[in-house]
Amino acid sequence: MASLHKPLLLDIPFDHWDWDEVPKYRREQVRKWVFEKGFLDWDQMSNLPKSLKSDLSEQVDLSPMEPVKVQGSSDTTKKILWKLRDQQFIESVLIRATEGTKGVRASRLTLCVSTQVGCALGCKFCASGLDGLKRNLSTGEIVGQILLARNEAGRRIDNLVFMGMGEPLANLPALIPALDTILSPEGLGIGARHITLSTSGLVPKIIELASYPAQIRLAISLHGGDDETRKKIMPINDRYPIEELFKACEQFIEQRKKMITLEYILIKGVNDDLKQAELLAEHANRLNAKVNLIPYNRVDGLEWERPDIEQVKLFHKTVAEGDAPRVTLRMEKGHDIDAACGQLRLKEIKK
Ligand code: SF4
Repeated sequence: MASLHKPLLLDIPFDHWDWDEVPKYRREQVRKWVFEKGFLDWDQMSNLPKSLKSDLSEQVDLSPMEPVKVQGSSDTTKKILWKLRDQQFIESVLIRATEGTKGVRASRLTLCVSTQVGCALGCKFCASGLDGLKRNLSTGEIVGQILLARNEAGRRIDNLVFMGMGEPLANLPALIPALDTILSPEGLGIGARHITLSTSGLVPKIIELASYPAQIRLAISLHGGDDETRKKIMPINDRYPIEELFKACEQFIEQRKKMITLEYILIKGVNDDLKQAELLAEHANRLNAKVNLIPYNRVDGLEWERPDIEQVKLFHKTVAEGDAPRVTLRMEKGHDIDAACGQLRLKEIKK
């Protein structure tokens, strides 16, 4: 793979690609190859002179990563394990879903993106945190996942969810410029309402994100209706208890005028009793938030289990009857997003 001593092209915003004596139209050609065609290989850029390609390849690296394993099927969920330039591993997940009503059905492709190698927050249901945090991803490593996953899928990606490995709000200095490139029509051109950031609840960063101009969506990993239950699952609750978290959410909603989502993974005997469902409905009402229920997906090395289907349905019914503004139950495809991300990487590093 490429040398780590060279800067990565995707770490530099394209309006800052300053190469001595390279005419502007040549930079525009490179931009089109990278963002429109997704070519991260100088040799494939057929309309550039050989001498220029050779010069540029001396100055910058194009590809932040290479795929080492692809698991799953292209009609449902496909996980991709990437090897970065420093031999670390991360994962992205492509999720295909058919949406729409009656005669109008469309296949939508969502990419679950990682923002860190590992994670420091140690949520108890998650494989990504089992080995701690190795490092933050760079802007180019975040954008690169999308370009290369789009190549892997062979089609446009409709939605992005930052729910892969890592806590996105813990890496805002790299994530914000990545979002600028993702949103720009000259970059990836994905609309803000198709982008969701999911946070475990880093209160100061939620407040910081409220000032970001684009209308990206925010999802909160709640997973417990009261502090006692939530802290069994999410150690971050000791730093930012539920009331403090909700005050930050209220500030975000007030500033952005945007509905947020409360994510809730249902774990047997831990947070799936109906008292928790009632509390969840109360919280959703207070924040005027959507609720997304996700039955737990088993993670190797962890003891927890998915509740029985009857309990899942009862929990769902209780939240819905508590007049939560909107409740969805994500039975299958989505579970990889939250619970199982990080498992491929753990297997790879334990080899
Ligand atoms: S759920 Fe997210 S924040 Fe929690 S440990 Fe996993 S990657 Fe980190």
